[in-house]
Amino acid sequence: MKKKRVLITGAAGFLGSHLCDKFIDEGFSVVGMDNLITGDLKNIEHLFELKNFEFYHHDVSKFVHVAGDLDYVLHFASPASPIDYLKIPIQTLKVGSLGTHNLLGLAKEKNARILIASTSEVYGDPLVHPQSEDYYGNVNTIGPRGVYDEAKRFQESITMAYHRFHGLETRIVRIFNTYGPRMRLNDGRVIPAFIGQALRGEDLTVFGDGSQTRSFCFVDDQVDGIYKLLLSDYSEPVNIGNPHEITIKDFAEEIIKLTQTNQKVVYQPLPKDDPMQRQPDISRAKEILNWEPKVDRSEGMKITYEYFKGLSKEELRKKEHKDFSSHIRK
Ligand code: UDP
Repeated sequence: MKKKRVLITGAAGFLGSHLCDKFIDEGFSVVGMDNLITGDLKNIEHLFELKNFEFYHHDVSKFVHVAGDLDYVLHFASPASPIDYLKIPIQTLKVGSLGTHNLLGLAKEKNARILIASTSEVYGDPLVHPQSEDYYGNVNTIGPRGVYDEAKRFQESITMAYHRFHGLETRIVRIFNTYGPRMRLNDGRVIPAFIGQALRGEDLTVFGDGSQTRSFCFVDDQVDGIYKLLLSDYSEPVNIGNPHEITIKDFAEEIIKLTQTNQKVVYQPLPKDDPMQRQPDISRAKEILNWEPKVDRSEGMKITYEYFKGLSKEELRKKEHKDFSSHIRK
C-alpha cells in the first residue's frame, strides 16, 4: 500500500522536527519545509538518509509548490518565542497570515487535510482561568506580542473560512507552553533561558515578581495530542497542553534544584503584555481525542536538562539571542 504523504512546515524547528520523527515512525512519507530563520537543520539531519523523507528550504509566506500527492499538511512554521517575534515582527505576521493562506490553497489543490498550529496566545493576557476553547481572549492588537497573537488569530479565522466556504478538512490545535529536547538554547523562552543560565553559572533572571504562571507540557505529550487531533474528525480548535500550573518564581527554584547549582534568582522588569496566568482547560481534548498528558514535569525536565547538558561548551557560550539581521530587508 502506498504510504500516506504529509507536508510539515517548520520542520527544522522544535515541534516540527519532533512531528517529522512521529510521522516517520508511524509509516508516513514526510516532506519537511523550513526557511531556517529560527529552525536548525541539526534537528532533522538524522532523517536525511531516509527514503521517505524530503526537505525543501523554502519560506512558506511565498507561493508554495510541492510536486505529487499530499494527504496531510501541518503548518508549524513560525517564530514562537516572544524574543524572536519581537525581532522579526513582519516575518511573524507573514508566516501566520500569508503562509497560512498559501498552505490552505495547497491543501485545497491537493485535496489534503490541513492542521494548523495555533497557540494559547490567542487568549492574550486571559481574564478567564483556566482557558477553555470558547473563551475569546484578551489580546492587545497593537502591543509587541500582537504580531504573533493576531497572526495566529487571523490564521484560525482563515482556516475556518476555508473549512466553511470550500469544505476543506481543517484542524486547529491551540498549543500551550511546550518544552523538551531541541528547543533553541538562545530563543529567550524561560526553560532554555533558566537551564542555560544554570549551566553557565549565571543568576536566573525572573521577569517581574515571578508570580505570573505557566503550565508546561512535555513535547512527546504535545506531539501525541496533535497526531490524535489530525486523525480525528473535529474541526473546531482544541487546546493541547499540560494543566499543571506553576509560578515562574517557583519554577526557577525547581530548576536550581534540578541542576544542583547554587545560582541566585535575580529580578528583571516584566515584558509588556506578558500574560499573568496561563493554564489550559483540556476537557475538550480529553473528551474528543481521549488524550491527556502523561509525562510529569519532573520527568520531562530531567530529559530536557540532559539534552541541554549534552550541548557543546561552545554552543552554551552563545547565550546572546540569535541574530536575524541577514534575513531583514531594509
Ligand atoms: N521569563 C522569565 N525569565 C526569562 C525568560 C522568561 O521570568 O529569562 C518569564 C516570562 O516573562 C513569562 C514566562 O517566563 O512570564 C514564560 O515565558 P516564555 O518566553 O517561555 O513564554 P510565554 O509563555 O511568555 O510565551
